[in-house]
Amino acid sequence: MAKTDLSKDVAGILASLGVPTACLSGGTLKARSPIDGSVIGMLKTISPIETTVAIDKAHAAFLEWRLVPAPKRGELIRLLGEELRTHKDALGRLVSIEAGKITSEGLGEVQEMIDICDFAVGLSRQLYGLTIATERSEHRMMETWHPLGVTGIISAFNFPVAVWCWNAALAIVCGNSTVWKPSEKTPMTAIATQAIFDKALKRYNEAGGAAPANLSTLLIGDRAIGEVLVDHPKVPLVSATGSTAMGRAVGPRLAGRFARAILELGGNNAAIVAPTADLDLTLRGVAFAAMGTAGQRCTSLRRLFVHDSVYDALVPRLIKAYGSVTVGNPLETGTLVGPLIDKGAFDGMQKALAAAKAAGGTVHGGARMNESDGGDAYYVRPAIVEMPSQSGPVKEETFAPILYVIRYSDFNDALALNNDVPQGLSSSIFTNDLREAEAFVSDRGSDCGIANVNIGPSGAEIGGAFGGEKETGGGRESGSDAWKAYMRRATNTVNFGRSLPLAQGVKFDVE
Ligand code: NAD
Repeated sequence: MAKTDLSKDVAGILASLGVPTACLSGGTLKARSPIDGSVIGMLKTISPIETTVAIDKAHAAFLEWRLVPAPKRGELIRLLGEELRTHKDALGRLVSIEAGKITSEGLGEVQEMIDICDFAVGLSRQLYGLTIATERSEHRMMETWHPLGVTGIISAFNFPVAVWCWNAALAIVCGNSTVWKPSEKTPMTAIATQAIFDKALKRYNEAGGAAPANLSTLLIGDRAIGEVLVDHPKVPLVSATGSTAMGRAVGPRLAGRFARAILELGGNNAAIVAPTADLDLTLRGVAFAAMGTAGQRCTSLRRLFVHDSVYDALVPRLIKAYGSVTVGNPLETGTLVGPLIDKGAFDGMQKALAAAKAAGGTVHGGARMNESDGGDAYYVRPAIVEMPSQSGPVKEETFAPILYVIRYSDFNDALALNNDVPQGLSSSIFTNDLREAEAFVSDRGSDCGIANVNIGPSGAEIGGAFGGEKETGGGRESGSDAWKAYMRRATNTVNFGRSLPLAQGVKFDVE
């Protein structure tokens, strides 16, 4: 892999956003780039006691911000969208350097931030409640939506900036303050994002706005800092994105203090290729969904059920595409597959491939491609594994580019296989048979939060409510009516008459 000085690149990007160079050194948290394994900064971390103080300050910010009318809160997010447009290239490049995404995906992630800002600006004028028919005469009953409090955000390494924005843009127009604990694997992009938010906030206040200090707080630290956020009584909602192991730890702790949880966790996503599928379209859809972001998306395609009648026309072509795809430096044009995030991800992939072989699978690809470099970067040839059945590692999420392929002959069997994992997040069917397509998205079809027809399972538009693993009860954040999770509902009854109806037969003397 070509050597460049990534730490200089990173320092330049952060300087362009106004982050003082001194912030990038002298700490204990090693920020690294998966592109070449080099260290791009040594960052200072926050202590648990400082975290508690920061959350208290965020609560004070909430008490002020909730009084600002919602459309005026939307103006701050409009400015955030503008700042993100201005700094899209810089932030997108930083995402590529720190998370290893190819250039178009790094930029695409920032575009998602811009899109959710646009969505949230419109939403700031649409936080509607219902007016409800009341059984009492001369009364009116309505529901109103109020700001909730501090919104805690915990994010994963593979969407280092978009996840914050999906939550923060909504939380802030809803009248909340936010406290963000990013992944310890991607702290630099979080520092850059906070700097961009601060620019928007400065412009907002210079134009006469009243946004309080500490409206958006960044906590650089490890999971112990995340735990302080999860346990703090002044945080009524935590939106946590990451592995199901993380969700299992966080969910019960929040439930223990009756706090709300939005849990966006792992996915073991499948697609069915039916006899009538357009195989050219399917090939492109499958290859991108399975290999994009080196298989490190929560919605990456991991299981493929191919009908007997098209198996031999599709799978050899897919294996060929896997063998020829360009793997390498994500900053270089033409690369489709960048590096794995670290050695842990590489070891996890090799372990899953060995288990698949032991379960009777035939493995194509999967080897490390830059072993001779001797460095701390991990590039792999994406792997296809032809499996005799859905067993062993096929039923787990391995966060790496492995696609398990299994034959089927009956549609209902394929549907049952699609649904036979606990981590149902996203799913697809490739078919031109209307009955199959409709059955797949119906109540007896896919049980995932995302069910697509003739498009792969990977990625999601911000307009829909994202997520929806069946393990965590469905999701969530971003579009549709997801905003309701960031607010509390009150039902108000107003009596505009002169009588006060009491229960039948109840009388008391008020003279
Ligand atoms: P991870 O679970 O290791 O870490 C995610 C975040 O949780 C980090 O910030 C980490 O510090 C924090 N954390 C871990 N344990 C915690 C605890 N006990 N209390 C509080 N915080 C804790 O995940 P990762 O390796 O960074 O990301 C990959 C995983 O995230 C995959 O499983 C992927 O599918 C999932 N993911 C899901 C979505 C989604 O929207 N459904 C999106 C992106 C990633």
